[in-house]
Amino acid sequence: MDKNNVLKGGEFIIKDVAAEEVFIPENFDEEQQMIAQTCDDFLEAEIFPNLDRIDAQEAGLMRELIQKAGELGLLGISIPEEYDGFGQSFVTSMLASEAMGAGHSFSVAYSAHTGIGSMPLVYYGNEEQKQRYLPKLATGEWAAAYCLTEPNAGSDANSGKTQAILSEDGSHYILNGQKMWITNGGFADLLTVFAKIGNDRVYSAFLVESNWDGVVINPEEKKMGIKGSSTVQLFFNDVKVPVENLIAKQGQGFRIALNILHMGRIKLGAAVLGSAKRTITQSINYARERKQFGTEIANFAAIKFKLAQQTIRTWVTESAVYRISDNIDKTKEELMAEGMDRENAAIEAIAQYAIEDAAMKVFGSETLDYVVDEGVQIFGGMGFSAEMPVDRAYRDSRINRIFEGTNEINRLLISETLIKKGPKVGINFKEEYEKIVSQADSFVAAHVDETDPLKIMRSFVKKAKTLGLYTIGAFLEKNPKGFVEEQEIMSALSDIIMAIYTTESAVLRTEKIMALKSFEETEYHRAMSETYLYDSSFKMKKSAYDIVGSSLKGEELCNALRIIDSLTIYKPINVKENHRFIANKLIEENKYCF
Ligand SMILES: Cc1cc2nc3c(=O)[nH]c(=O)nc-3n(C[C@H](O)[C@H](O)[C@H](O)COP(=O)(O)OP(=O)(O)OC[C@H]3O[C@@H](n4cnc5c(N)ncnc54)[C@H](O)[C@@H]3O)c2cc1C
Repeated sequence: MDKNNVLKGGEFIIKDVAAEEVFIPENFDEEQQMIAQTCDDFLEAEIFPNLDRIDAQEAGLMRELIQKAGELGLLGISIPEEYDGFGQSFVTSMLASEAMGAGHSFSVAYSAHTGIGSMPLVYYGNEEQKQRYLPKLATGEWAAAYCLTEPNAGSDANSGKTQAILSEDGSHYILNGQKMWITNGGFADLLTVFAKIGNDRVYSAFLVESNWDGVVINPEEKKMGIKGSSTVQLFFNDVKVPVENLIAKQGQGFRIALNILHMGRIKLGAAVLGSAKRTITQSINYARERKQFGTEIANFAAIKFKLAQQTIRTWVTESAVYRISDNIDKTKEELMAEGMDRENAAIEAIAQYAIEDAAMKVFGSETLDYVVDEGVQIFGGMGFSAEMPVDRAYRDSRINRIFEGTNEINRLLISETLIKKGPKVGINFKEEYEKIVSQADSFVAAHVDETDPLKIMRSFVKKAKTLGLYTIGAFLEKNPKGFVEEQEIMSALSDIIMAIYTTESAVLRTEKIMALKSFEETEYHRAMSETYLYDSSFKMKKSAYDIVGSSLKGEELCNALRIIDSLTIYKPINVKENHRFIANKLIEENKYCF
């Protein structure tokens, strides 16, 4: 493999990639499609008919469903074959997460078990620990949970008080503390618990069996959504944890916790896709059934606009999520070729893309919230009825902006990581900024006379990258030392960074599809991409204005606005026709069909 083809984390801000290099969902092979189909069949047979029973937390039901998923091999997709799993690629595990993502509370239980619950052991456990526990987790004989959050340690996760003291004979740790909001906690058999050994300032990670003496499980929390998902507080009262159950080394727990969260974030980006596509299909179905003013509401342009926007944002999320997932697989292969062991390579590859992982969490969760909100609106009064599916979708979506790190924390992480990491991958923000300022007069709205849609889109993405470098540089000029306090600006920078990644992903996917199909066959893809780019141009301009407006004045500000204007202009498009065109296809197919 040519090493230079895979961009390193964050490099997209400055480097380009050829369309043929990126993975697009149209590239899924037969085996991957079969796995997704098995997930779909499982949801149809076991989950969708039982959603009310699941949300009522019928005793033992969720546990039984986890076990059934295990019997079908759906829990072992990312667990290596030697521990009774299937050792599939990261992209394949993301496809399964997407499919299962339509399963409401089950999806959350599934993600917690297969992701944050099992993966600390897969990536960091020793051979003996893996032999002991992984086959049970792969088959669903046991269920897993991840215990990081405490009542006084949420976003500030490392400030927890749970403590482990080594026993006098050195045979075990005595664990004391309290964990909160633990998904699957009501029935999980194996808990990954983060606690500080003695007076350590950072966590270590422990494998704790929930039936050990001293583990106390509180009653289920009453929640706004994902009501069927088990969420409890757990208490650890003098729990004896054998020293063999320490994961990795003393003091490595916080690093494990963070790296597992990077993985959880990108997986959330996949899970929201399943939910979004299902809600879009339900919205289309309803719009075709419901009649007002003598016609189906699907015939009203305002409804078509919503269906098209729901679809465009979902399609763009999908383009970006699988592009980065494939980069993770390729980076893992590269690291293994350099001699790194499989598990380290896998988690290092995910951590290397911390910026993109967080971006997919934020962008995906906000896409889903938009989709379900407009879903409720399309259903009108019926959307407010607890008997309609969009009611559950609406409530269940909201948690995605909170867990796996809130979207505020992830936004701060995106820009902060890029600013810190940039120089390490050869980006000199100061030099880039000065270059852009010196070339400002050459920035003209070059694509205004251009008619080739692909050229227009490519040119916009190029300018978007210049805008990203310019705004980071402009910000650093005024805040050379501290930026942590400037949260509004850091968040606005992150919005620009996410827009760059997502617009580029949409264009690359369109370009790759165009190479596979006739020009006419790609009309919908082009319409979705150009509409998304057009919309993004205004959002990016607003974010950039916010950034320079908060730190520049007078002539400096005027010059900055001129640069931003020329970098964010998009040739006006017929947005009205684009939305109608996309929606008509959805209505004709009566489902999400891209
Ligand atoms: C249903 C559910 C399931 C969960 N499952 C798990 C699980 O399985 N395991 C687990 O360990 N945890 C789990 N969590 C916990 C979850 O990860 C935390 O709730 C989340 O990280 C936020 O922490 P917090 O609730 O303490 O909010 P807080 O940290 O108190 O945040 C409150 C608000 O302040 C903002 N804020 C906080 N710090 C900053 C800052 N530095 N700058 C700007 N804004 C800030 C936040 O963005 C948020 O808007 C779950 C939570 C829920 C609700």
